Amino acid sequence: MIQEGSDIILSVKNLTAAVDGTEILKGVNLEIRAGEIHAIMGLNGSGKSTFSKVIAGHPDYEVTGGEVTYLGQNLLELEAEARSRSGIFLAFQYPIEIPGVSNLDFLRVAYNSKRKHEGLEEVDAFDFDELVRDRLDVVKMDSSFLGRSVNEGFSGGEKKRNEILQMALLEPKLAILDETDSGLDIDALKIVADGVNQLANADNALLVITHYQRLLDYIVPDYVHVMGNGRIIRTGTKDLALELEERGYEWVLEEATVKG
Ligand code: ADP
Ligand code: MG
Repeated sequence: MIQEGSDIILSVKNLTAAVDGTEILKGVNLEIRAGEIHAIMGLNGSGKSTFSKVIAGHPDYEVTGGEVTYLGQNLLELEAEARSRSGIFLAFQYPIEIPGVSNLDFLRVAYNSKRKHEGLEEVDAFDFDELVRDRLDVVKMDSSFLGRSVNEGFSGGEKKRNEILQMALLEPKLAILDETDSGLDIDALKIVADGVNQLANADNALLVITHYQRLLDYIVPDYVHVMGNGRIIRTGTKDLALELEERGYEWVLEEATVKG
């Protein structure tokens, strides 16, 4: 039997955070263990992306209260880069374009930075090329995307697949996917979900943020949380996602208000 609490990857207690002086997160509580898949759902503007950016350490978001521990250490005192090196990966809702930087170079720098952190030798261009080609299969991506500038001129679906390619290379301990399904047609959605499922294992954890239930048909969560007005106002199993699909979010918000 594993010691109680030893497999906790992320623990969030009463987290509050503000942007430009406006409090957006108003007391988030969440615990994620190794091997688990969690989903956060909720209306637009409820604070889902804010939460993901706070966990990733985005400098625009000011943590005003609460605690976050990641693998037993205080996450909040780490810079964004250190968080990423220690295994937190955020796939952005709106992946950025980096003109002039080839996708291959970008991926290699990210990969080697993580290797360095782990005390491993950097991988040279030749070996990396082999490695990345192997990972392309995870997202069924064509190797021509490696020579292009990061995300520049990529379609919505290609950008999302590129995010999962990064994930496949970096093998994060905690991957947060922020609306990775938005703007994807059903074929691209299946490719993305299939890639993510290949990467999920007993040692890592996944936090999937989505507005729609559809993605959760393919990436099946152990827990579904509803975010409303900067808090997690309800937690359930995958059935909760189906119920939300059918009934909408109003009733959850109302019940949360009644309970205070
Ligand atoms: P969701 O991802 O659930 O749609 P967000 O976290 O993006 O919600 O946004 C939550 C609220 O925070 C919204 O009202 C949004 O306008 C506000 N917000 C988010 N980022 C910023 C920002 N950089 N500046 C000002 N307001 C922001
Ligand atoms: Mg969002």
